[in-house]
Amino acid sequence: MPWPPDAQDFAELRRTLEWVYANSPYYARAFDHAGVKPNEIRDYDDFRRRVPRTAKSDLVENQRQHPPFGEFLAVPRERFGSLHTSPGPIFIPRLPEERGGTPVLKESIKDMGLRPGDIAHITLSYHIMPGGLRLHRAFEEAGCLVINGGTGSSELQVEVARAWGATVYAGTPSFLANLGDTARRMGLDPRRDLKYRIGFSTAEALTPKLRTELGEIFGIELFDHCGEAQIGPLAGECRIHDGMHLHARDLFCEFLDPESGEPAQPGDIGEIAATQLGPRALPLVRYAPGDAFRLLPDPCPCGDLSLRLIFVGQVGVIRKIKGVLVHPAQVQKVISHYPELGRFQIVVDHPEGERYDRAVLRIARLQAIGEAEEDLKKSLQHQLKATILIQMDIDLVDPADVPEAAAAPRFTEAMVDLRRK
Ligand SMILES: [Zn+2]
Repeated sequence: MPWPPDAQDFAELRRTLEWVYANSPYYARAFDHAGVKPNEIRDYDDFRRRVPRTAKSDLVENQRQHPPFGEFLAVPRERFGSLHTSPGPIFIPRLPEERGGTPVLKESIKDMGLRPGDIAHITLSYHIMPGGLRLHRAFEEAGCLVINGGTGSSELQVEVARAWGATVYAGTPSFLANLGDTARRMGLDPRRDLKYRIGFSTAEALTPKLRTELGEIFGIELFDHCGEAQIGPLAGECRIHDGMHLHARDLFCEFLDPESGEPAQPGDIGEIAATQLGPRALPLVRYAPGDAFRLLPDPCPCGDLSLRLIFVGQVGVIRKIKGVLVHPAQVQKVISHYPELGRFQIVVDHPEGERYDRAVLRIARLQAIGEAEEDLKKSLQHQLKATILIQMDIDLVDPADVPEAAAAPRFTEAMVDLRRK
């Protein structure tokens, strides 16, 4: 799907909205309340200005009040084809024809360069949540033999992967690291005795450091992937490894400026809102789980024209500073190259009479830096300006002066915005 969407995408979206309005009591009420008649929505701009978003809490709350499926449900139970539970718990039934993310996954898997005879080792949980089973089915459909590893039992997993000669790993990067340690404890060489060639990394951040380490341990090429519990798999890396291609064709995905709600421009950060296209047992319209992505502006050298995304983090801690949206995770990425620096806080204010905001980055100094301090600050400032595109003043402080809640990955207190009181 192009971004922003074109007329053809919009036509399919409108057909879906009409179906949802006629079948889902929750959305019939929500649309009526907002004064929206789907057949009167003219274009995408009209849609995004008038159709309300659905927060995860709306779904959870409604299912609690009307257990188990809530008023979102659009078909009678006898039409269900499968059931799916995601953390919450949230209960999502599906029609037999709903593929639950398998086509998206198959496309992502194909992009990794699968070969005939590949054997995939799945190490996501098969227990209650859909992760393991969903990947299992997608790899089978992609033509692999599949090992249902699941989580834990790492010695047994190493034994099974070795016996079968598994060539593809699928799971979290940290569990792959764990398998490497386990193999060594068992007296094995992870590179020689295990045959992993490519890896489907998901459900956890794949940092550049982890990617390099795992590459060295196993000789494996890892591909990062992302998705969301309700709307399923979204995007995955190609062999260029520069952002994840948006593969979700069964969703109408919007990327919206977290402050203005306007469509994010290529190069900018946008919060995802996804509408499931076509009839669904439990349809979701403009479902916004709070995930923010940066949209890469240029076409990928691999030739795939689909939009490329980089996952940034949860939207709640994003602030616009000097006209640029900043997520603490971007700053963390820069600071992580300086081992002498720890957690941080960004203090933003708008001094009286000044034209621009002022941003001060307060960082915990983990060790004595002495005379090198000025050089370090300059180098850091330069890196920040190059990656986040804004100038920040830097203040190195005692670790006790930065609250623990400012730390990654939640960054709850990493932004101190003195402009809004
Ligand atoms: Zn590509």
